[in-house]
Amino acid sequence: MGTIIDAEQARKLSLFRPLGYQRNSCGYCHSENGSASYYASSVSVRPAHYEELVNRGWRRSGPLYYKQNPQRSCCPHYSIRLEASDFKPRKDQRKAINRWNKFVLGPEYIRRAAYLCPKTREEKKRRKCNFDLFDAVHEAEYSNVKRPIDPKTKKLLEPAHRFEVNIEGDSISQAKFELFLKYQTTIHKEDVSKWQTKDFKRFLCSGMKRSPPNAQSQEKKLGSWHQCYRLDGKLIAVAVLDLMPNGLSSVYILSYDPDYEQWEFGKLSALREIALTSEGGYQYYYMGYYIHTCQKMRYKGSFRPQYLLDPESHAWDPLDSELSKKLDERPYVSLSRDRKLAHLDAPESAGNNPVDADAEINDEEVSLFDLHMPGVLTLEQVKALDLDHWLLVVQGTFVHMIDLVGWEGMTMNDPQSVKGIVAELAAALGPEVYKESAVVLFD
Ligand SMILES: [Zn+2]
Repeated sequence: MGTIIDAEQARKLSLFRPLGYQRNSCGYCHSENGSASYYASSVSVRPAHYEELVNRGWRRSGPLYYKQNPQRSCCPHYSIRLEASDFKPRKDQRKAINRWNKFVLGPEYIRRAAYLCPKTREEKKRRKCNFDLFDAVHEAEYSNVKRPIDPKTKKLLEPAHRFEVNIEGDSISQAKFELFLKYQTTIHKEDVSKWQTKDFKRFLCSGMKRSPPNAQSQEKKLGSWHQCYRLDGKLIAVAVLDLMPNGLSSVYILSYDPDYEQWEFGKLSALREIALTSEGGYQYYYMGYYIHTCQKMRYKGSFRPQYLLDPESHAWDPLDSELSKKLDERPYVSLSRDRKLAHLDAPESAGNNPVDADAEINDEEVSLFDLHMPGVLTLEQVKALDLDHWLLVVQGTFVHMIDLVGWEGMTMNDPQSVKGIVAELAAALGPEVYKESAVVLFD
């Protein structure tokens, strides 16, 4: 058998290992097996493909990629994003940045600087009347702080603290690991012995291809990156970011130093990331999942205007009072489904209605197709794809599915067969990523 694709084509593919549909304990309401998701793993996903997946409700944690079934989960996850150019910071958000800047510069610096390098009247007026997110985010960074010679001391006027923020590759360092341990043990009250360097690495440092190779390059950054915050040379926070062609996704809000909790780093990092979204030439800022029932997640809705992904149509709907009200009334909301149902004369005419969300079935044993999981392709749609010629990686070489012994005798809606497993993966990935990916199964 000759090679069916060349090295150049192979490089453009994302690889996925299907792990299937599983129920797990819920991290929010702590129900034992309340959350159901479809899982796949990969250490080789292209950022453009990940963006396509994110826009279909997927998310990743290190090399684990998953898409929740919000219809059969206790705490439905809705993907949430905003358009950076439309973002309007609220008063408490503006205050958080100003408060941090004041702390970094310090009262002595602010007093002397006002005297040594006074702002013009226009500048004062402009700053008073409108808050500029970009100015505010960068104001206290050491490289932007004016340091005139103070005639009193004959020395450079220095701010109270040296604050620096840099984008770096997602590699691991001792300082990052120590910060992570401190965070897990202090905030999450976890036992230090639970975590080893390799766990940390799996959690924060792998899963997506990164480019360009060095952070100083002017080329648009894609893939997995770390935004590192240092105060007086000490690493105080690391924000893990997934950069995609049109969007910036905040992976792990922050591994912040608990000593700095009072500064609301969650808020500060989100504001900085929204600014970076615009400055880096991306369009959307993704804050991961929004869980309406989880009080801790509600803050995401305060970055406005915000949008939620419709789990069925994959349209982005404004998270306004109307949508909030619906989410108050019932956990699973798809506005496109609501509109469809409103057009039907009687609810009975819904005919082949999806499996009732509350139906007493063991959904781990049912095919995704029989489950009618929202936002995945139907059996008919997958049949229209050419699964026979989907690529499979076997011991480092590519073959077609049809080359597998017994392939033709298998059925797509048998979740136990290889064809069933592969068909579910295609359904969950969607037609675009399907076309540019390959499956890892036996390696
Ligand atoms: Zn739950």
